[in-house]
Amino acid sequence: MQVAKNKVVSIDYKLTDGSGKTIDSSENHGPLLYIQGIGNLIPGLEKELEGKKAGDHLKVTIPAKDGYGERNDSLCQSVPKSQFESTEGLEIGMQFEVETEQGELVVSVTKIEGDMVTVDGNHPLAGVELHFDVTVKEVRDASAEELAHGHVHGEGGHHH
Ligand code: ZN
Repeated sequence: MQVAKNKVVSIDYKLTDGSGKTIDSSENHGPLLYIQGIGNLIPGLEKELEGKKAGDHLKVTIPAKDGYGERNDSLCQSVPKSQFESTEGLEIGMQFEVETEQGELVVSVTKIEGDMVTVDGNHPLAGVELHFDVTVKEVRDASAEELAHGHVHGEGGHHH
């Protein structure tokens, strides 16, 4: 069976950045299961996996624009500490959700200076060229329920 829209695909992968530093690896948490063609994965990787089958191994480089997008400097903002409900435990790297006109956005604290806090709404991997080393483990049909939920059920997926 080949990877195609609405198939459940199980992959082992290692993700590194341009300098060879490992960003994420299925060695740490087991294979990734996703449904092809519905936006579970970054578009660049879905495209490379289309038509592949169990046992196929591929090494692909995905430019930031087909990965987590280019960095958008307008998502970086300095806000006064007084706008935070609490500044207790406020530290660099902390993440929280904010309401924006475009909906909820996860932002990270990138700088704390005096009374000002810089928050960045870019995905941590925005602007990063992604190097994937992927092995397809299994391809199967998604169940109607999985398609309705938009995610994989069972081992390696959602349990509910
Ligand atoms: Zn579900």
